[in-house]
Amino acid sequence: MKVTYPHMGYLSIPVRNMLNHLGVDVVEAPPITKKTVELGASFSPEGVCLPYKINLGNFLESMELGADTFVTACGAGKCRLGFYNAVQKIQLAKRKQVQFYTLDTNRCFFSLYNLLKTLAPQAGRMDIIKQIMLAIQQLKAFDAIVNAKNFYGARTKYPKDIIAISNNALQQLAEYKTFSEVQSGKKLVIDLMRASSGDDGEQPVKIGLVGEFYVLLEPYVNHMIEDVLVQQGIEVKKFVYTGQWAFANTWLQAAGLHKEEKAYLKEAQPYFHYHVGGEGLKTVGTALWCIQNGYDGIVHIYPFSCMPEVVAEYALKKMAADYHVPLLSLSLDEQFSDVAIITRLEAFADCLKRRLSRN
Ligand code: SF4
Repeated sequence: MKVTYPHMGYLSIPVRNMLNHLGVDVVEAPPITKKTVELGASFSPEGVCLPYKINLGNFLESMELGADTFVTACGAGKCRLGFYNAVQKIQLAKRKQVQFYTLDTNRCFFSLYNLLKTLAPQAGRMDIIKQIMLAIQQLKAFDAIVNAKNFYGARTKYPKDIIAISNNALQQLAEYKTFSEVQSGKKLVIDLMRASSGDDGEQPVKIGLVGEFYVLLEPYVNHMIEDVLVQQGIEVKKFVYTGQWAFANTWLQAAGLHKEEKAYLKEAQPYFHYHVGGEGLKTVGTALWCIQNGYDGIVHIYPFSCMPEVVAEYALKKMAADYHVPLLSLSLDEQFSDVAIITRLEAFADCLKRRLSRN
């Protein structure tokens, strides 16, 4: 059995470690490239969203490397993510005999535990729980490092150095095998960023980055948007983080303490009164929070044809007009180039800086 799973930002680092520690043979997909996207798109239904195509591209590339057991996530009832697994399973089974497992995001902890028990039947209960906890702790440490990069990177003359510290740290922390190593490693890295930045306490232009989950978390798809903005001297506030999501949807959800939709339904009023699927509600709720908390602009990113975010975009436009706050909405597809996104972000950053200097 050779297990594989799709890429999504730094998620694959602790997932690979967790499976390896439990004795599971992993075949990781190569990093996402143009070839991945084209391969996935050529075997995908017409008009399906970009995350589906890239996930399928990851699976097909892993299959070429010998993978025969595929793991994906499914959030039934939320958006097209609810049918990804069924369609991908059919597509992969046309090529060879495969095992296909789906993590149910509506009951994530139990679904993950049962999956690991199936993949690693020899592993004990405590060992599995320990590995899940360690993976989540690593992810949360990565979240904190990326957050610190966005903070200190916008406050230094050398943002590329801060970005490099962050990228190296993600690889380094992945090697740590105990909770205390991860904790102290995270602290060291953040202290190093603070010391290297020469932060003089001045507040740079700050924006809220909102939008669809996968696009926010996968740097290949969002064209490294956070790093581009940080290099423009813009502080980025994001509300979707892998570790935060994993923690909330495993431990908190299992304990009945995770009620994200309810919280954002309140935050999104009066622009949204209903859940619209995907991250639509959160997009609107967090954008409104940013505007009410003095952020200078909103950048909204989503995959072309993503219905929940198209609905959210209408609410964001109205919100931006009501509060006179600049809004940049980017609908990304496989044709979008680095140059196209960098040009728009640079123009948006200039506009924000000019606007601020006039006030
Ligand atoms: S939120 Fe949008 S892009 Fe993401 S899976 Fe759902 S429909 Fe597709």
